[in-house]
Amino acid sequence: MTTISPAILISMFSRIAETMAADKDRLCALDGVIGDADHGIAMDLGFGAVRDALAAIDPSATDPTAVFNMAAKSFLNAVGASSGPLYATALMRAGAAVKGKTVLDQGDFVAAFQAMAKGIQDRGKAEVGEKTMIDAWVPAAEAAGTAQSEGKPLTEVLDAALVAAEQGAEATKQMIAAKGRSSRLGERSLGHMDPGAASAVTVIRAIREGIVSA
Ligand code: ADP
Ligand code: MG
Repeated sequence: MTTISPAILISMFSRIAETMAADKDRLCALDGVIGDADHGIAMDLGFGAVRDALAAIDPSATDPTAVFNMAAKSFLNAVGASSGPLYATALMRAGAAVKGKTVLDQGDFVAAFQAMAKGIQDRGKAEVGEKTMIDAWVPAAEAAGTAQSEGKPLTEVLDAALVAAEQGAEATKQMIAAKGRSSRLGERSLGHMDPGAASAVTVIRAIREGIVSA
């Protein structure tokens, strides 16, 4: 079974930052249609700050909770948009879910992943169907939980999460925004993918790549 050390988590965050930088323009363009065109900038700044903060710590002298907490704090400090507190809460909750562990086993990692989705939900109070990042995160967390309970290996658990997130993000095109800035558009938000759901897919894809290649 894969054991996930603080060093692997740090390299996973570095991969998220790299993937987000490459996706920045697409996410800004999506946000330009139903929001204020800054979502790619926010996510790139946030995960760039996470990568830089984590680069300064010694992986052999930390634990997973401290890595997630530092990630949360740097994301929050770097991002002024509404995605700032949402992802900061997600990362804090991931840290809390694995408190006391020196390394993570598969079950710990899945628990941290599910805690991220729950944290975003608790913080933003959005339900599935309201055209937010929740429409990608909640089905991804559920699919991960199902695959985990079926005894699948971690790569397959994360594959299932990614597929569910992609389907959830695609489904936001058919939704009318009910939370956040784009809710002001009402029916005019129909037909367009939610940028936060799109970036959630990017985050989950990078998590998967970071863990699979570790
Ligand atoms: P802002 O709207 O402040 O410019 P961003 O552009 O960074 O923030 O993020 C916009 C995304 O945030 C939306 O596409 C949506 O997915 C997500 N979002 C907004 N409000 C909520 C909420 N209450 N719960 C979950 N996600 C939300
Ligand atoms: Mg925006």
